[in-house]
Amino acid sequence: MDHFALVLPEEPTAVRLLNTRWWDRGRLRDGLAEPEHLRRWVAAVRPEVPVQDGDLAAFRSLRDALHALVGHALGEDVAAEEPLAVVNAVVANAPSRPEYVLTPAGVARRTGRDATPVERLLADVAEELLELLLAGRLARCQAHGCGHLYTQKPRHRQWCSAKCGNRVRVARHYQRHREDA
Ligand SMILES: [Zn+2]
Repeated sequence: MDHFALVLPEEPTAVRLLNTRWWDRGRLRDGLAEPEHLRRWVAAVRPEVPVQDGDLAAFRSLRDALHALVGHALGEDVAAEEPLAVVNAVVANAPSRPEYVLTPAGVARRTGRDATPVERLLADVAEELLELLLAGRLARCQAHGCGHLYTQKPRHRQWCSAKCGNRVRVARHYQRHREDA
């Protein structure tokens, strides 16, 4: 099953990229280990973008940098300086605002339209995630053994899905019974 493509499909694309790396019963799983995984993930989120085998490294590098920034923002002991440089480089490859550059013919305007579809997708993902981060809307699922990231809805909850919510409630139920015994 394409677990990584199906994880929390209602989440924004950036969160879905982060959730291609997840914990499964104490083991770190990687849903972007091969070019075929990347093709399937892009087909799920942005089917019009053509990806090549060689694009895998860029997606993995951005994903891992964003994970570090999220961990840092959530108070985990992660360095943020290098990951931030990776993110800034990705955004600079496809700037959403024009940039003025000097050419032999004089000053010219350059925009993100010069970027390839893959560069634009990477930059979109980076900007989307950073906006969610700055708005304080990202949370990590508190259900045991999950750790998926999700965006906070107005109604505060501590888990990523109804399935995890049920697991948390069942665990609390057993906890209470053990304390009563
Ligand atoms: Zn969860």
